[in-house]
Amino acid sequence: MSPSARKFAISLVLFLLAGAALGWFYERPLVGLLLAALLCLAWQTRQLLQFERALRTNNFDKFRLGEGIWEQLLARIRFDRERGKRRKVAYRNLLREVRKSTDAMPDGAVILDTRNEILSCNRAASELAGLKRKKDRGQRIDNILRDQKLSSLVNDDDFEQSVEIASPLRDGEWLNCRVVPYGADQKLLLIRDVTERMRLTRMRRDFVANASHELRSPLTVISGYLDALAEDDDLPDQWHRPVEQMQSQSRRMNRILSELMELSRLESSGSASQDEVIDVDALIRKVVASFPQQADKATISIANASRVRLLGREAEIESVLVNLLTNALRHTPSGGNITVSWERAINGASLSVEDTGIGIEAAHLHRLTERFFRVDRGRSRDDGGVGLGLAIVKHVLARHQAELDIVSEPGKGSRFSCHFPADRLSLPVS
Ligand code: ADP
Repeated sequence: MSPSARKFAISLVLFLLAGAALGWFYERPLVGLLLAALLCLAWQTRQLLQFERALRTNNFDKFRLGEGIWEQLLARIRFDRERGKRRKVAYRNLLREVRKSTDAMPDGAVILDTRNEILSCNRAASELAGLKRKKDRGQRIDNILRDQKLSSLVNDDDFEQSVEIASPLRDGEWLNCRVVPYGADQKLLLIRDVTERMRLTRMRRDFVANASHELRSPLTVISGYLDALAEDDDLPDQWHRPVEQMQSQSRRMNRILSELMELSRLESSGSASQDEVIDVDALIRKVVASFPQQADKATISIANASRVRLLGREAEIESVLVNLLTNALRHTPSGGNITVSWERAINGASLSVEDTGIGIEAAHLHRLTERFFRVDRGRSRDDGGVGLGLAIVKHVLARHQAELDIVSEPGKGSRFSCHFPADRLSLPVS
C-alpha cells in the first residue's frame, strides 16, 4: 500500500471512530458511526463527481482538494499527460525526420492500403508521377496512374515483378514501378526514373537492328560472288574447299543477321495480338513432319496434343517449336527420344519439348536465354548453333505473356515447357 493510500485508510478509520465516540457520548455509538460513514460517502461522492468533470473538461484548476489519495491521483494524471505531450512532440519530430529523409530519396515511394488507396507519398513520387500528397490521399493509385501493367501489378500484389510505364508528366520519360509489402497490411509502391536505362536499351536495340540491316547488303553481294565462283568450272582445284568454307561462313553470318533482326523486331513490338486462333495440335504435326526421320537422329513423337486453341501469332509460335525441336535434335544422340506435347494445365496450357539427350548442368540453366550463350561454344558452332534460338523463344513467349520453364539433368535429358496463361486460350468450336 502506498503512503497516501495508507494515510487515506487511517484517516477514514479515525474519522469513523470519532463519529462512533461522539455517538457514544450521546449514548448512540452506532448512530454516530453511521453519520460519520454517510459524511464520508457524501464527501467522496462529491470528490468523484468533481474529478469526473475535471477529467471530462480537461480542466483540473478547480480541483484543489488538499493532500490525500485524490491529490495523488491528480498528480499521477498530470504526470501521464505531461509524458503523453512529450511523447507526442518526440513522435512528431521523428515523423518530420522520417518525412525529410523519404523526401530526400531520389525514388518515389507511395504507401497504399489493401484497396490500393494512397495513404501517403514522398516528394519524389510527386515529382516523378505527379501525385499530390494531400489531394490524392484516399484515391486509388490505378485511377491516377492509368496503366494496365501497373494496375495488374498492384491488384495482384505481385511483389516479384516490376513494370515500366510511360511518365504521366513528361513525354519520352519512363518510370519503373514495383510493389513491396509494408507494415501489417499495407504496401509500398516504389517508383524509379529509368529514362536513361530505357534510352540506352533502345539505342542498343536500334544499333543492333541497323548494323544487322546494313551488313546484310554487302553480305548478299559476297554470297552472290561466292556462289558464282563455286559454280565456275574454271575454278582451280585448290580453291574449291576455301570457297565452300566461305560459302558456309557467309550462310552462318546471314543466319546470325536474320536472327538478330528478328530479335530486334520482337523486342520493339509489344504484346502479340490475339486475332489469330492457332490450332496448336495441327501446328505441331506440321512442324514435326518438316523434320524428316533420319537414322542417325533421335526419334520425334507427339504426345497429349490437346484440342484447345492458342490466341497469338502462329508464325512466332512455329518458330518457338522449330527452335526447341532443332535444339533437342542437336543435343540428343541417335536412338534417343524427343516428345512434343500440348497439354491443358490448371491455369493455362503448356507446349513442351522433352528429350533424352545430353542434358544441361544446373549452373547454366539461368543463362540459356541470354544472347550468344552456348554451353559448349565449339560444339555448338560446329553443329550450326549461333546461340540466339532460346533468346528468340523467350521474347516470343513474353509477347504472349507465357513463361519458359527448363528442367534438365546432365546425361538424362531436358524438358523445355512454354506455359501460356488461360486468357490466351480458346476452346475449339465443335
Ligand atoms: P544454339 O543456336 O546454340 O542452339 P540456343 O539459344 O538455342 O542456341 O541454345 C543455347 C544453348 O543451350 C545451346 O548452345 C546448348 O548449349 C543449350 N541447349 C539448348 N537446348 C538444349 C537441349 N535440348 N539439350 C541440351 N542443351 C541445350
